[in-house]
Amino acid sequence: MSSVLLSNCRLVATMDDRQNELADASIVVEDGWITAVERSRPEGSFDQLVECRRFLAIPGLINAHHHLYQTLTRGFPQSEGKTLFPWLQTLYPIWAGLDVDMVHASTRTGLAELALSGCTTCADHLYVFPEGSDGFVDAQVEAARTVGLRFHATRGSMDLGQSKGGLPPESVVQAREVILRDSERAVQAHHDPEPGAMIRVGLAPCSPFSVTPELMLETAGLARELGVRLHTHLAETVDEEEYSLRKFGVPPVELLDRVSWLEEDVWLAHCVHLNREDIERLSTREVSVAHCPTSNMLLSSGLAPTAQLLAAGVAVGLGVDGSASNDSNDLRQEVKQAILSARARDGASALSAREALHLATRGSARCLGRTDIGCIAPGKAADIVLLDLESLECAGGREDPVAIAVLGAPRVHSVMVHGEFVVRDGELTKCDPEEIAQKHIEASARLMQKWRDG
Ligand code: ZN
Repeated sequence: MSSVLLSNCRLVATMDDRQNELADASIVVEDGWITAVERSRPEGSFDQLVECRRFLAIPGLINAHHHLYQTLTRGFPQSEGKTLFPWLQTLYPIWAGLDVDMVHASTRTGLAELALSGCTTCADHLYVFPEGSDGFVDAQVEAARTVGLRFHATRGSMDLGQSKGGLPPESVVQAREVILRDSERAVQAHHDPEPGAMIRVGLAPCSPFSVTPELMLETAGLARELGVRLHTHLAETVDEEEYSLRKFGVPPVELLDRVSWLEEDVWLAHCVHLNREDIERLSTREVSVAHCPTSNMLLSSGLAPTAQLLAAGVAVGLGVDGSASNDSNDLRQEVKQAILSARARDGASALSAREALHLATRGSARCLGRTDIGCIAPGKAADIVLLDLESLECAGGREDPVAIAVLGAPRVHSVMVHGEFVVRDGELTKCDPEEIAQKHIEASARLMQKWRDG
């Protein structure tokens, strides 16, 4: 058995059901699980003792929506600003050049950067499967193991190309039977349903404008047969709403209901454009939502009704959403963006610092269907982040360490995933960021060259 004592943390923000915050508290970790959180320093000997007097301990942050492959094209073409549809139409032909090495390289880059921002679990939505894409999900799983984060791969899909009135070109769509066959294969190869799982797999048709209702319906059936969760984008833009009305004769939430997707095993990215009735339906059906504020603002999609969703009892998590519509893989920053977005939309009391932290921990855990992560409590997996309250960035923030952790830019000192440090003293422990960056730069250059060569 291996044991770790995180001794005398300045504060432990547990994010447990009572929102307990414990000053001068210690956390005992045994074999990857938290076995005690207490005010006094526990007796006994431990394999590893970490003195935490200068640290705020928070649960590991959970990224509920991402597209790691987009790290290959980040910053492009957003200097001038584009909305979602033209942005996607510029990028689809580039992404059509993706190969397995590029997927591996970008997954490592994104996850390494996320780890340094305090993220311990990442869900990824990979939906571009061009010719020769066998092995994309497998490459992601392998890459995740090298960085050490928990990883929820979702096997995405698109089967509604331009020839059938969809948005993506034919080069990035697949036949329904190919998608369903590979979805089943990916689940059987990698999904671990056990508590403490490091790898899980979900199924994730991309969006109403790139997927047929038949694929949505059949994917839901397959996921329920296999016992895995369902994920998609929804109500992201006004363009999407207009598309759904024009093509299917109903708005996006109604469309989802018709294909059996308004269920507890579904989490939806975005949900920016919802009316009161839509919000009630999500609440009643226990569908959860991954809020992606930076992406929504950068693409000018709008400001999501986070406060209204929370007031209606909808579980809301937080997602970085790709690195081409966000340009960074920084989940800690996203917590602050959630506050800015909510307050810009609904006033100063729309979202507190603690509510925002709740989104990125308990809320995201709900999205991913997990009760074993998201809070610091006995019986939970030991996914813990230590933030340095005595660093330059936190000096002067003593009165409310949780607020400064969210509103300021504290240094992420250490990140533990299942009892193992993947970041110590601000450095990755299991992989070399220089080597990852070099491989990624080469992969990105190759992708752009393929596109230029046509
Ligand atoms: Zn997305």
